[in-house]
Amino acid sequence: MRRYHVTTFGCQMNAHDSERIKGLLEELGLGEAPSQEEADVLVFNTCTIREKPDTRLAAHLARAAAQKRQRPDTVIAVGGCYAEAQRERLFSLYPEVDVAFGPGTIAHLGEWLGAGGFGVPRGRFGTGDERRFAATLPTHRERPFQAWVQISMGCNSTCAYCIVPRVRGREVSRRPGDVLAEITRLADEGVREVTLLGQNVNSWGRDLLPEIRTDFGELLRAVDAIDGIERIRFTSPHPKDFRRPVIEAMAECDAVCEHAHLPLQSGSTRILKAMRRTYSRERYLRLVEEMRAAIPDLALTTDLIVGFPGETEDDFRETLEVVEEVGFDGAFTFVYSPRAGTEAAAMPDQVPDEVKRDRIERLVEVVQRVAAERNAQRVGRVEQVLVEGPSRTDPTLLRGRTRRNTTVNFTGDAAPGELVDVLIERSTSTTLGGSQVAVAVA
Ligand code: SF4
Repeated sequence: MRRYHVTTFGCQMNAHDSERIKGLLEELGLGEAPSQEEADVLVFNTCTIREKPDTRLAAHLARAAAQKRQRPDTVIAVGGCYAEAQRERLFSLYPEVDVAFGPGTIAHLGEWLGAGGFGVPRGRFGTGDERRFAATLPTHRERPFQAWVQISMGCNSTCAYCIVPRVRGREVSRRPGDVLAEITRLADEGVREVTLLGQNVNSWGRDLLPEIRTDFGELLRAVDAIDGIERIRFTSPHPKDFRRPVIEAMAECDAVCEHAHLPLQSGSTRILKAMRRTYSRERYLRLVEEMRAAIPDLALTTDLIVGFPGETEDDFRETLEVVEEVGFDGAFTFVYSPRAGTEAAAMPDQVPDEVKRDRIERLVEVVQRVAAERNAQRVGRVEQVLVEGPSRTDPTLLRGRTRRNTTVNFTGDAAPGELVDVLIERSTSTTLGGSQVAVAVA
């Protein structure tokens, strides 16, 4: 049996797409190899949101090329956002690559392999321009009780630093009936937790035909009504589209978890304007207040960028202030990285690297201190945890996530997929620790 290996870079949407790529390859009769070296088909599902993933990919492809020189029948396939951004150029940049496809043309990989590489000329990117939801492809889920569910693709926003609209295209919402049918099927298969995925989940539904038009708040309520689904998560929302119906659905639906990832990016209204984020610092803080009033135990995490062109020390200080004021439970922090073809890459006043490095260090320090303070408040409480498996740091412990999306390492005897109550006894800035007290839901 020929075997494949998939390397995934980037976001949850790519994690979802990689599960589909694996499902597609298994439908073609391939098995999964534990490592790149043991595989006949090497697939790289790429990201290009910053420079770092591009550099990492180059190193991976150099290793793959060496493997191919040893075993010429090795197939090298590149998908995802970097492939979409480069298209045919990819084959001249990396001559060892056999087949390439974008986030909307994953099916091309199957056609190419299905044809044994024959009939589809090498060096042609994807097939046709018709984008398809990866959600229509077979899947290989990492965990049988959790599932990513794609509800839209693409993004209509124009954030000045972001390449996503260029590589993932305009926003297209999946039909509500298709989403609900998929989740009902997943629940029948034993899935307990679903994560609704989109570049901008809370603008879902706006482009649907009038006769089926609805909104994200209604979708949350409809998913909440599906038997067997105990937990609903979603990512990524945009603050500009976070409206009352979504907040009310989060507050009123039992299965919708008390966590929202709400990318802020900068605490300075001047920089937010230059980023084309379409909200101000004040509006973001009002939204946080409204969400917390409706969902008292809400956990909030965010994305933050330092060193955006033109960012002054005062702008940066405003970011630190908002982190303190909101009290984020966690944050992904990034150094601004110019992306070819984005508006920001051509902006004046690019911030020097040493200033960026200094700011990211100071930001991480504040983010970690605030998150540690937030997590310390959970000590002494009993949290419901969905068991995911053994702890990554201590095999004698179990690992799982609270409804607020915090990782918990704990003593207990539960099995993966079980919901258990855990008494929280200790905390760090990123995790909680404790011991199982009961099985919450059989
Ligand atoms: S909302 Fe902005 S940052 Fe997010 S994917 Fe769209 S353009 Fe990029």
